Amino acid sequence: MPKAPLLELENLSTHYVSAQGTRVVRAVDDVSLRIHAGETLGIVGESGSGKSTLALTILRVLPPAARIVSGRMMFEGEDLLRKSDEEMQKVRGRRIAMILQDPMASLNPLFTIGNQVAEPIRVHEGASRTTAWNRARELLKSVRIPSPETRVRQYPHEMSGGMRQRIVGAIGISCEPRLLIADEPTTSLDLTIQAQYLKLLRDLQQAHGLALIFITHNLGIVAKMCDQLAVMYAGRVVESGPVSRIFNSPAHPYTEALLNSIPRMSDDRQRLTAIEGQPPDLSKMPPGCSFAPRCPRAFDQCLQMAPPETVTEEGRTARCWLAAPALGATAAAGLHREAV
Ligand code: ATP
Ligand code: MG
Repeated sequence: MPKAPLLELENLSTHYVSAQGTRVVRAVDDVSLRIHAGETLGIVGESGSGKSTLALTILRVLPPAARIVSGRMMFEGEDLLRKSDEEMQKVRGRRIAMILQDPMASLNPLFTIGNQVAEPIRVHEGASRTTAWNRARELLKSVRIPSPETRVRQYPHEMSGGMRQRIVGAIGISCEPRLLIADEPTTSLDLTIQAQYLKLLRDLQQAHGLALIFITHNLGIVAKMCDQLAVMYAGRVVESGPVSRIFNSPAHPYTEALLNSIPRMSDDRQRLTAIEGQPPDLSKMPPGCSFAPRCPRAFDQCLQMAPPETVTEEGRTARCWLAAPALGATAAAGLHREAV
């Protein structure tokens, strides 16, 4: 029997509602995803597609304007949406941890590094001060911070950007979570440090068998790091499945366009295709497929009705009328806009 997923999101929707209640931004719209222990799930999509909102929803640390309006989030057999705030406190950091894009936002400038790495160990595991500090030193060593004995007594501003990033990583894994969510953790790093940091995350993941959700703009990183991929567009997952199969034959024209917009070593043309147009305003979603206005393969149906999420083959889904079995035939019969 296949193993149960560690985390399974079912039809999850999170909206931001303006103070007057007149404007509703559908930042996460009917998202279903799953991740197993030890797996890495990459989430990609243009800026504003809802990636961070999805991460904040999983941890239930959304800003006040946000509402989780529907869905289930099954984690180790329990629905995180049914947990009290107090119960969620115990999940955060201890069972699910998150690394933010900006390391300075996660580190308090007024406390020493040792304090900040040791603190969650004391809080979540009830460890003594000495035990927690010893663990903090070991953790800093494991994320390759040189001279951890000295570094624990220093403050965030005394570290380089790469070191801060690794310290935030150390805090992330300090309580050995089952799931680590990394939201664009390498954007502010130069390429060498970025490569080192990605390797470190992989090593930590393998050593601890944790599941990793990796949010990024960079499909090159996805190819290196991830087993599974979810492509988000305008709050929805438009395609999901194993990275290698999606890269070989994308099912959604948006994924295809994203793949065409990255340079490839094997590509001697060195010509990249930009995706024309803009994503829709999430508070005024068009009636049909949200990608239709930009899609080179859209036909009439796409502008009128949003396609359902379809299982295209085992372990893969797509939200596209071309992938929906009933209409695939109609489309193939020449109803593409490009063909008429
Ligand atoms: P990026 O790649 O730029 O980090 P993202 O995919 O993480 O983008 P989100 O930050 O989740 O996107 O934003 C999704 C949508 O929700 C956007 O339209 C954004 O403007 C909106 N949004 C985000 N935070 C808020 C907020 N606090 N109040 C209202 N709308 C918000
Ligand atoms: Mg974001």
